[in-house]
Amino acid sequence: MKTIIVGFDAFDPTLFEHLHNEGKLPNLSKYVDNGGYAPFAVPNPPQSEVSWTSISTGLNPGGHGIFDFVHRNPNTYVPNVSLLPTKTSAIGTQFIPPHNSQTLFEQAVRDGYPATSLWWPATFPARFESPVRTIPGLGAPDILGRLGVGILFTEDPESEVDKRKTEVKRLEKTGAGEYRGAFTGPSGKTLSGMKETTLEINLQITDSKTAKLVIGKQNIELEPGKWSTVVEVAFKIGFGMSVRGITRAMLISTEPAPKLYFLPLQIHPLHSSWRYGTPKGFIKDLWKNTGPFLTLGWPQDTSGLEENCITDEQFLGLCDQIREDRERALMHLLGKYKEGVLACVFDSLDRVQHMFWHDRPEVLEDWYVKLDGLLGRIENRIAEKNLKNTRILVVSDHGFKSFNHKIHLNRYLVDKGFITPFEKKEEGNLKDVDWGQSQAYGVGLNSLYLNLQGREGKGIVTEAQKPKLVDSISKKLLQWKGPDGNQVVQKVYTRDEVFDGPYTQYGPDLIVGYAPGYRASAETGLGEWKKDAVEPNKDHWGADHCMDADAVPGVLFSNQGLKNFPNPSYKDFPKLAIGKELSHKDSAIPPTYSEEDEEVLEERLKDLGYL
Ligand SMILES: [Zn+2]
Repeated sequence: MKTIIVGFDAFDPTLFEHLHNEGKLPNLSKYVDNGGYAPFAVPNPPQSEVSWTSISTGLNPGGHGIFDFVHRNPNTYVPNVSLLPTKTSAIGTQFIPPHNSQTLFEQAVRDGYPATSLWWPATFPARFESPVRTIPGLGAPDILGRLGVGILFTEDPESEVDKRKTEVKRLEKTGAGEYRGAFTGPSGKTLSGMKETTLEINLQITDSKTAKLVIGKQNIELEPGKWSTVVEVAFKIGFGMSVRGITRAMLISTEPAPKLYFLPLQIHPLHSSWRYGTPKGFIKDLWKNTGPFLTLGWPQDTSGLEENCITDEQFLGLCDQIREDRERALMHLLGKYKEGVLACVFDSLDRVQHMFWHDRPEVLEDWYVKLDGLLGRIENRIAEKNLKNTRILVVSDHGFKSFNHKIHLNRYLVDKGFITPFEKKEEGNLKDVDWGQSQAYGVGLNSLYLNLQGREGKGIVTEAQKPKLVDSISKKLLQWKGPDGNQVVQKVYTRDEVFDGPYTQYGPDLIVGYAPGYRASAETGLGEWKKDAVEPNKDHWGADHCMDADAVPGVLFSNQGLKNFPNPSYKDFPKLAIGKELSHKDSAIPPTYSEEDEEVLEERLKDLGYL
């Protein structure tokens, strides 16, 4: 068996077909001509972590247990990141794999073939027992165990109050053109207890074109406005131990005062205290032989762009760098490839579309052409090796649509009487809810839960009341019209309608399929609400896919044609990739609800690009 899977996160069929008709994507067009192209049905909700897991397992969320970026603990109503569940034991709090379902990669190994999964979402931490060579994708945390935000050093931190996510730090002048600052690292152990660690940085500005950054023993040349090479950081956490990480720096301005920006401090793959990837020798080979790469699950710094720390072009440069790093790794492995499954997910296009869908169509076109070129280079590499009968699959986890209005679902539920807050206030969150008088609530980007007796901590809705309530909420949501006169929600699904499998019982009761143009607000994701149920979206982040799955299909290309798969979906993918369906045990490990601090959970959530 020889299968190469190329994942193009968010590659959109409508945009593809348009550029195909204009003859701009020659490599992908060959597949269309040979009957090897089809739009690809994705699961509900069409979120990356859900969909990529469905693609690798053939299961919907009821089968694999990832229902939304954000889940909640039914007992406490506290939201958490589905991608980063933790378990607390005698040895402390540890990350545990976000799902346990069998993947096509594991089945390939079981069948006697090597399998490699590069940057596939929801694969951090690596499974102990897994024989799959893995570098994790979306979901891999920074060195603080968060999803990661950039750090801005400036002489005047007070002037940066508009920064909602970015960590702002003071840069202190120590001499002519010389400045000092310090990162805050993980907590370290001292004899007197836990203490925050720091790491000093020094900046020396020679003139408007050259500067030097000194961190520990490293001297890094900085060219204003350009990303540095990968910088290593190390925090001494006590008793001779240190936590090591990586980042890239950029001097974003020198005049009138310097501003120095860093990408989130990310896991050093060779020195991680968590199981970053597997096996160690594999990670080492890639790191040493194909050069350093960013390790954060969401390395394209959308927050830095959203908060004006970096420019469009600096953001796009970073996206391209990430594409290039992954391409180098994939090409290196293709050079050694003989058989088995080799998969690599490229996700910069998703971030580019989130930020530029609206006003920079030329950037989008550029990226479709870029990925088409990448596929051409992969095909050439395979042809060079004379690997006959190699199956090539190109797949995306969803398409894309405009995101013009933010929906505060919980405000709507308050207005319609499904949520009763203790006090009438303009804004609120789930802590303000009188659960004794509330029937339903939203947490996550597409999830709606009933306040069910026996499941929710203060549940009041009985099983007998459930059908009528579900019906009433669904009807109201479907009647809801936005300011443009269009339907806000195009479909509402009940849990049993779209999910099957052992995890179904843990999923949301209703899945809200927003119509194109509408998406849940960041506040909704966290269970909060604002004054109005609909708010115009004025963010740089102007397009999305967390809508109804029917509105945002993905794409599928196969060099061996799709004759037997006229309407392919994620359910077909394992069969397409390894020639057989996966068998899944019909039992589920109950979800783990973290016992971590609410504050820790909240911090982790806020770093998610979507929130
Ligand atoms: Zn995606």
